[in-house]
Amino acid sequence: MNMKTALEWKRYYSTSEFKDNYIYEGDDLGVQCTTEGTVFRLWSPPAGRVTLNLYREGSGDDPFQSVSMKKENKGVWSWKCREELHGVYYDYMLEIDGKNVRSADPYAKACGMNGERSMAVNLRRTDPEGWDEDRSPEEAGERIIYELHVKEFSWDRSGGFPEKYRGKYKAFTCADTTLNNDGIHPTGIPYLQELGVTHVQIMPSYDYGSVDEAGEDTEFNWGYDPVNYNVPEGSYSMDPAHGEVRIREMKEMIQSLHSRGFGVIMDVVYNHTYSLDSWFQRTVPWYFYRVFDDGRISNGSACGNDVASEREMCAKFILDSVLYWTEEYHIDGFRFDLMGLLDVELMNRIRRELDRRYGKGVKLLFGEPWAADETAMEGEAIPALKENIRLLDENVGIFCDDTRDAIKGSALKTKLPGFINGADGLEEKILQSAGAWCMEDRDNAGKSEIQAKAPSQIITYVSAHDNQTLWDKLEETAPGEDLMRLNRMAAALYMTCQGTLFLLSGEEFARTKGGHDNSFNAPISLNRLDWKKAWKERPLVEYYKGLIALRSRLPGLYDKSAEASSRIFGVRKEGGVVCYMCDNRAAGVDTRWKTLLIIYNSKKRPEKISLPGTGWELLCNAQSSELWKEKITVSGSAVAEPQSVLILGCLRDALGETELGRRKAV
Ligand code: CA
Repeated sequence: MNMKTALEWKRYYSTSEFKDNYIYEGDDLGVQCTTEGTVFRLWSPPAGRVTLNLYREGSGDDPFQSVSMKKENKGVWSWKCREELHGVYYDYMLEIDGKNVRSADPYAKACGMNGERSMAVNLRRTDPEGWDEDRSPEEAGERIIYELHVKEFSWDRSGGFPEKYRGKYKAFTCADTTLNNDGIHPTGIPYLQELGVTHVQIMPSYDYGSVDEAGEDTEFNWGYDPVNYNVPEGSYSMDPAHGEVRIREMKEMIQSLHSRGFGVIMDVVYNHTYSLDSWFQRTVPWYFYRVFDDGRISNGSACGNDVASEREMCAKFILDSVLYWTEEYHIDGFRFDLMGLLDVELMNRIRRELDRRYGKGVKLLFGEPWAADETAMEGEAIPALKENIRLLDENVGIFCDDTRDAIKGSALKTKLPGFINGADGLEEKILQSAGAWCMEDRDNAGKSEIQAKAPSQIITYVSAHDNQTLWDKLEETAPGEDLMRLNRMAAALYMTCQGTLFLLSGEEFARTKGGHDNSFNAPISLNRLDWKKAWKERPLVEYYKGLIALRSRLPGLYDKSAEASSRIFGVRKEGGVVCYMCDNRAAGVDTRWKTLLIIYNSKKRPEKISLPGTGWELLCNAQSSELWKEKITVSGSAVAEPQSVLILGCLRDALGETELGRRKAV
C-alpha cells in the first residue's frame, strides 16, 4: 500500500482539479435534525466509502444500525431518514487511501462523554424556558470585559453556591449567592453586578480534551485544546453523558448572564486542535493543517499543530462556527486565541458577516495578535499579527501587550518593572496607551509602534489568565512597597486609557496565584476565585468599582471613533510623570465635566499641577475613585500624590470654547 505523505496531500488540495470540484458552499454540513427527519452530511473528498454508525449511547455499545452514505457533489457524503433521531449518537467509518478510519463529525453540534461520538440533536429541544425571549443587554457607554473560567468562578465553597453546581454552568444561574451563605456579602453574579463590568468573557467552553469528563471533579485545565468546536464542554455540565444536557445548561448560563445585564464573550481557539489526530485530520487528511515545504508540521501554536485558516473549507468552518455560536447560543463577542496564526482576510470576513447580520461593531471581535512560533501559512495569506493591524477592520481588536507591559512591566520577563513600579523612559508609551495607540508619536518621527485605526482596535489591560496576576507581578517587582497603592495606580491608569477595558477576574481583589505565571493545569485550589478575598480586600474592590462607574461618565475616554485621540491635548511628560487634558464633551451625552485633567505620577514624590481657569472638581485620587460623587471644588493647583493617578474634571471648557477648538494646533 502506498500511503500519501502530508505534502502529497497538500499538493493535491492545491490543484485546480480539487478546487473546482470539491469546495462546498452549502450551510448544511453536520446533522440537521427536526421533527420532519434527520439528514447527515459529511465533507470528505478523499474518501472512497463512508459508513454511518448509529448508537444508543455516547460510548461503549455497538452500533444498532450501520448504513452506507451516498456520495453527493463536492465531496459531500449524505444519509437521510424520516425519523427525528434526537439523542442518537453517531460516528463515521471512512475508507481513505486504502485505510479504514473512524471519525466523529467535525461539524457535530452535540456529543457524548469526552466528545468521542457525535450526537444528533434537535436544537429546539435543548432550549431552556424563555430562550426565544433571551436578548443581549442594551449597551450604553463603555464595555468592560471580565475574564472568567467556568470552574474557577464557583469552585470555592465560600462562594455559597449550591454544592452540586460548584464548577458548573449551572452556578451562573444563581442570582443571590453570598459569602458562606451569610445573606450579606454578595458573591458570583450579584457581586459582578455591583462591580459594574458589562461583559463576561468565558474561558474555553467548547468541548476540549484535557479534562476527563468521567474523571474526578477536581480535574482542572484552562481548556485551550479543542476537540469539538461546536459543542459545549462536558465537564462543566451536570450530565456529560447525555449530549443535550450540556447544551441546555450552557444556554441557561448565557440566558442568566443576559438577564442580569451582562454580554457574553466566548474564548475561541481555532488556531490549533487538541491533537493532530482530530476529526479534521481523520476526514480530510492534512487539509486543515499547515505543513512547511520541507515536510515539517507547522507548530506556531506550540501545541503541536496549526490550523490552516487560509484554506477555503477551513475558513468556512471557522466562519460557520462563529455564526453558529452567535445564532444558536446568542454569544455577544469572540476572543480569538493566537489570532496571529489566523489570516487577516478571514478575520475581516468574520467581521463583515457579523456586521451584516447584527449591525456594525455590535458583536465584539478581538484576539491575541501574536503566535507562539513561526507558522507555515499558505499562499498570499497575511497573518493577523499586531504589525498588520491597519489591514484589519477597525472593529477587530488586539490585546495590547505594549500597554500592559508599559504600565506594570514585561509579562514574560517577570522581574522587569514598568512605569508604575519604577522603570524609566516609558512616558511616551504611557501616553500612547492613553490615546489607544492612535496618536502621533513625537519621539519616533511621528510613528508609534502600533498604528491603530481607532481605539476600537485596542484591548487595554494589565492582567489576563496568561502570565502572573497583577498582584503577583507587583510583589515580584516592588517588594516591600505599598502594593495596594501600586495596584490602585495600575487600575486608574489603564481605566483612563481610550481602548476597550479588560481584566482578569479577581484582579480587583488582589488575586494571587502565588507567582505562578502559567497555571493552565495547576490545581483548581490555586486557580479558583477566592470569594473570601473578594471581601477581605474590599477597599481595593471599591476603588475598581468607583473607576468603572466613573468611566461610564467620561465619553472623552470611551469614545471609540478614529477621532478619539484628538480629544487629548495639553500633554506634558517628564521623569515619571505623564499629564494631559481630554475634551470630555460628546454629542447627545450630558456630561458634568467638559474637560478632564489626568496626571499619572509614578514618582515617589508628589507632583503639583497648576490648573488653568476655574471650575475644577476632584474626581479620583490615590485613595478614592468616588470623589466625583462629592463635587469637591479645586482651584489654582492640585497635587498628585506619589505613585498615583489624579483625575480632575472641569465644569467649563478649561481653556474656553475658542481655545479648545484650536487645541490641535497648540
Ligand atoms: Ca471535553
